[in-house]
Amino acid sequence: MLFLLLFPFSTYSFTVVIDAGHGGTEKGAVQGSLIEKDLSLRLARKIQTRLAKRPGIRAVMTRGEDRTLPIEERARAIAEAKADLFLSIHFNIDVFMLAETRGLEIYYPADDLAKAPEESLSLYHRNNRSFAFGKMMRDRYLKSELFTVWKHDLNMFAQRDLKIFRLTATPGLLLEIGYLTSPDDRAHIENEQFLDDMAAFIAETVVEQAGKK
Ligand SMILES: [Zn+2]
Repeated sequence: MLFLLLFPFSTYSFTVVIDAGHGGTEKGAVQGSLIEKDLSLRLARKIQTRLAKRPGIRAVMTRGEDRTLPIEERARAIAEAKADLFLSIHFNIDVFMLAETRGLEIYYPADDLAKAPEESLSLYHRNNRSFAFGKMMRDRYLKSELFTVWKHDLNMFAQRDLKIFRLTATPGLLLEIGYLTSPDDRAHIENEQFLDDMAAFIAETVVEQAGKK
């Protein structure tokens, strides 16, 4: 906030909010020594550090430390930042412990056809822009080493019931980076190089999107 006051005519043209899932008393998924709230913060920091070096891009974190943060406050932070885009970072577990449930999952907000047209129309463009960004991320991902070398799987889903999508009108995606219950994914997540590669991939995807604005 202070920064904005000091530099009212900032040269930033694209603002992205990086939202590290969970935090504080909300641990998120836990599997052995792996705790989602710590992983999401670590990856979010890596993404933010990379984006901070890119001209024209302002990368804001919803939380930069281990603290409890209600979804309503995250949504408020996204709105107050006047963000062009937000990315919520999560890690997953499969409740049935299925080893074959694995990989990165991209969730984008979808139209709610049960709503009256005048209500859903306001989110129509937000949803379209979110999908377009998600699709661009998917296309880049399938060519990236995360997929071709690491063999880290990928799925993409429409989702209209996620609270963060309901509380914001900003284009955004929720990323489930991998499954703590999958031995393959766990080996990736425990490897610092994988997290660095993932952070670089996500940051570069944001940079490409910013260039389209
Ligand atoms: Zn989560």
